[in-house]
Amino acid sequence: MKKLYVLSIIILVIVTAAGCKVKSFEQKDRSIIICSNEIIDDLVNTIGGDFIKTNIAIRKGNDPHSYTATERDIISITDSSLIIYNGGGLEGRLEWALGKIGNITPAISIMKNIPEEKFIYKDDVLNPHIWHDAMLWKSVAIFIADNLATMNEENHQIYYQNEEIVLYTLEKLDKYIKEQVALIPAEKRILVTEHDAFAYFGRAYGFETLSMQGVSTYSEVSSIDINNLADILIEKNVDTIFLEATVPDRNIRLLQATLKAQGHSVKIGGILYSDTLGNNNTYDKMMRHNIDTIVKALSK
Ligand SMILES: [Zn+2]
Repeated sequence: MKKLYVLSIIILVIVTAAGCKVKSFEQKDRSIIICSNEIIDDLVNTIGGDFIKTNIAIRKGNDPHSYTATERDIISITDSSLIIYNGGGLEGRLEWALGKIGNITPAISIMKNIPEEKFIYKDDVLNPHIWHDAMLWKSVAIFIADNLATMNEENHQIYYQNEEIVLYTLEKLDKYIKEQVALIPAEKRILVTEHDAFAYFGRAYGFETLSMQGVSTYSEVSSIDINNLADILIEKNVDTIFLEATVPDRNIRLLQATLKAQGHSVKIGGILYSDTLGNNNTYDKMMRHNIDTIVKALSK
């Protein structure tokens, strides 16, 4: 709690400092769009093409849940034409910082476009990891194309042409994932990870998802959490668990050791990209990496 309080004071100082440096509308480089993370950045760039420039707030490969806006980030946001972020609590303290900045820069949450009935909650907390359902991501692509077209009507035809390609690619990806899932025996379609990042993936593609943490990586994992999950995995005869690229492997290794101590051996099925693109560089490649890793580990 004390840590949070100190953090809040630091950010308040940052925001106040940045406020002094806010440039007038005329001075801003209006062509720059800030995307909160690399997954959104990939989509915005694919639709915007050569007609937009983007910067990413959360450094590539970093865990979005622990994000805190730096002074440089705040200045860069206030200098830009638009910020596009996920929302739903994904990006750590970003939404809080945006609230403090006010409406100097228009901000769009892609989750605002998703109908409420599509959302998944865990213990009454909204799960923000919507991109793992390619068809939900399709509706985000439409939303972004519409926004770019409204912002810059001159290039709207280009955005809509690029949107068509994105939608086609997403449909192909969705089909590919479904074909791959069919290779996994039904009883083995259980995905065990550190945090609850794959709930939308599980619902879209027919997996039960289990994790030690909730929808964020922010909470501490207790030995009770690990023991509870271990009991479930023994009961369901799960023999494979997965690491996540942005989360330390300590708790998954502890889970593995806890199970081993009870005579239940589980293997590590590979590393999944829950909250970043990693070295896949594009959304499409990241999603294909994940499903290929899952199929390789669970279809044996
Ligand atoms: Zn996450």
